[in-house]
Order: sequence, then structure tokens, then C-alpha cells
Amino acid sequence: MNLLSKPELLEFRAEVRGFLSENLPAELSDRASCHAHLSREDIVAWHKILYRRGWSAPSWPKEFGGPGWSGAQRYIFEEECAAADAPVLSPFGITMVGPVIYTFGTPAQKQAFLPKIVSMDHVWCQGFSEPGSGSDLASLSTRAVSDGDDYVVNGTKIWTSEAHYSDWIFCLVRTDQGAKPQSGITFLLIDLRTPGISVRPIISIDGGHSLNQVFFEDVRVPKGNRIGEENRGWTYAKFLLSYERILTADAARSKRRLARLKEIASSFATGWLLTEAPCVAKRIAALEIEVMALESLTIDTLLKDERGEALAVEPSILKLRGSEVLQRILELTCDVLGPDALAYEHRVLPKGNAAFPTYAAGRVEEYLYRRAATIYGGSSEVQHNIIAKAIFG
Ligand SMILES: Cc1cc2nc3c(=O)[nH]c(=O)nc-3n(C[C@H](O)[C@H](O)[C@H](O)COP(=O)(O)OP(=O)(O)OC[C@H]3O[C@@H](n4cnc5c(N)ncnc54)[C@H](O)[C@@H]3O)c2cc1C
Repeated sequence: MNLLSKPELLEFRAEVRGFLSENLPAELSDRASCHAHLSREDIVAWHKILYRRGWSAPSWPKEFGGPGWSGAQRYIFEEECAAADAPVLSPFGITMVGPVIYTFGTPAQKQAFLPKIVSMDHVWCQGFSEPGSGSDLASLSTRAVSDGDDYVVNGTKIWTSEAHYSDWIFCLVRTDQGAKPQSGITFLLIDLRTPGISVRPIISIDGGHSLNQVFFEDVRVPKGNRIGEENRGWTYAKFLLSYERILTADAARSKRRLARLKEIASSFATGWLLTEAPCVAKRIAALEIEVMALESLTIDTLLKDERGEALAVEPSILKLRGSEVLQRILELTCDVLGPDALAYEHRVLPKGNAAFPTYAAGRVEEYLYRRAATIYGGSSEVQHNIIAKAIFG
């Protein structure tokens, strides 16, 4: 891509690639390429390696501990990490609550929270959705009642990814019952060790555990942990959601998954696939075009964000197209593997094992888990609504 071919960007790419080849442990990239869900230990281990190099918060400005990269550099970094099968950084601190804290937080909150997000001494999770309040998030009913210097929180959050090994949760809570739904919401930062919090696992269709339900029973949260003004939480949440949607588009990882699909297709091309080859090739070509378009829109959006221009519907378009193309790549991968896809279930094999190539391991789990990609971060139907409203009014 021309935009990424400037000499200084080629140099930057070489630097990132060199760093990854020297510092990404092979067993970590093996696990990252085979498993949809990594352990806290793996996620923190990789984050700390990047932290020591100053690269653990790729999108952050220098003043808060980020590398201060341009949009193009951020994309190149993502692309190289994806190509090397590096673990995906936990998004909840770095991509979601971190930017909210450095944009809307008090000096004391910035000082207390940002360094621990950059160093990954605190692992975060997101407490937005509730039973009955997902797409219609503004209807949420977890309550926070003012009591002296604290709020007392009661209610429950659901589908909370990574809550079982997180230290902190950022939550939307209702602080005004009388106001219209969006106006009575407050954004709180809550220490998960606070008495009254319990976490119950939810096992997803792939058999993995990343999801949870979190219960709050008379949980005291200091008012100093409130972001911005009381009842203005919806504003901060909308800011956060546009970052979440750009993230879930994940063009760089789709590019990697497509490359893996091609490896699988060519290694199977001597068997049954031979007769199906033209059909498979046609589907791969169509996906390749979609991924190129996604990549191009991602880079444009990152550059726009870097120039400080308001992002309108781009995050929703990226979220919609990114999640759909991801699902089509995984679907075709399983089609190509055929019944063999099932044989690789739950296998973790060392790289280079000719009998069971690593690139085939974990594909069924990934296919199953990513059925949720068109739901989390706001479902496809909801993105269609947002785009239609922006265009047609
Ligand atoms: C794997 C996974 C991880 C998640 N992680 C987190 C997390 O870490 N933190 C968190 O807070 N939440 C998380 N979520 C929750 C996620 O954000 C919600 O599931 C999502 O917003 C949809 O809400 P819902 O599940 O309540 O479905 P509903 O809102 O009940 O939607 C059900 C169906 O109705 C459709 N629909 C709803 N409203 C409309 C409308 N107005 N027009 C057209 N169609 C509509 C939807 O598209 C969907 O198909 C996660 C979800 C999943 C599946």
C-alpha cells in the first residue's frame, strides 16, 4: 500500500519486525495462534515485554506513556504483530478506559490509573451490558446511590469478558431514575476486590471461558472514582464505543487469518479439494478484496483520528464490515479443512509438526467463538441502524 511505503515507515516496519523476531517467545505465539482465549499470565507476559520497549499502549500520546505513533505507524505495528501471531493486547485498559481517563479524568485519576494500565499491573474489564440491556444500553438498571463520599452500587453486569482475572472494572450505572435514560447514567471505575462483588463464569459455544456475569451487592465506590460529571456517563461511553468499534474491525488480524487460510488451502490442495479448487479460489479472491477495502478504511480512519477530526460513521462501518469478513474467512477455513477441522479441536501442537500443522489447530473453536463478532461491540443490526441514521437522518 503506497501510503505505508514511505522510507521512514519501511524503516519503522523493519524495526518492529526485528523486535518481534527477537522478543516474542515461540510458545506464546503458538498458543496465541491456536487459542481464542489466553490466560492472564500469557496476556500480561506479552504486555510486559512490550512495556519494557515502550510499546504497550500503541495508540497513546507520549505524555501518558504511549509511543506517540502516527496512524500509519499504529497500523504497521498491528500488522506486524498479527503476522507474527503475537497475542492480542487486552483492549479494556489500553484501548477503552485509558483514553477515557486521559481525556475526561481528573489529574489524580490520571496519576493513579494510567501508569498501571501501561505497565499492565492492573487488568481491566468492561461492565456495560446487563441482562435485558445490550443493544438498548441506555435502559441499564444497575443503580448507584449517593451516600456521603461513596456511591452504593447494586445490580448485575453480563457478558463481561475477562472479569474472572481482572483487577478493575469500568461500569455504567444509573444515578438518576427520573431523567430520560441517557441522562441518568454515570461512569464509575470499580476495584473488583471491593466487598459485595462476585463473578460467575459463562462458558461460550467454543467451550472456552472468557465471559462472566458480575454481581454487585451494596458495593461502596468512592466518588473519586467517578469519571467526569454525575449523570454524564453516556457521553464518555459513546467516546469509548467508537474506539471499541475501530478495534473490533481488526483488519490486520483478518489479513493474517486470510494468509493462514491460503496456507491451509494449498496444503490440502492435493486431496478432495482439487476438484473444489476453482470455487475455493474464487471465494478467497473475494475475501482478499474485502480485506484490502477494510485495511484501506482502517488506515484512513486512523489518520483522521490522528488529525483530530471527528469520526462520524467510520467506526460503525469498520465494525460491521470487519466482523462480517472475519466470520466469512473462518467459515471458509472450516469448509476447506472439512471433517479434519474437528480432529484439531482442543489440540495444541508444536510448530512444524507435519502431521498436525499448528495453523489448523484451534480453527473450529475460533470459528465458533467468533460467531459472536457480529454481536459484541454492538450487533450488525445496530450498526446498520447507526449508519442509516447518519446518512438518511
Ligand atoms: C463474546 C461476547 C463478549 C462480550 N463482551 C462484553 C464485555 O466485555 N462487556 C460488556 O459490557 N458487554 C459485552 N458483550 C455484550 C454485547 O455488547 C451485547 O451482547 C450486545 O450489545 C448485544 O446485546 P444483547 O446481547 O443484549 O442482545 P439484544 O440487544 O437483546 O439483541 C438481540 C437481537 O436483536 C437485534 N436488535 C436489537 N435491537 C435492535 C434494533 N433496534 N434494530 C434491529 N435489531 C435489533 C440485535 O441485533 C440482536 O440480533 C459481549 C458479548 C459477547 C457475545
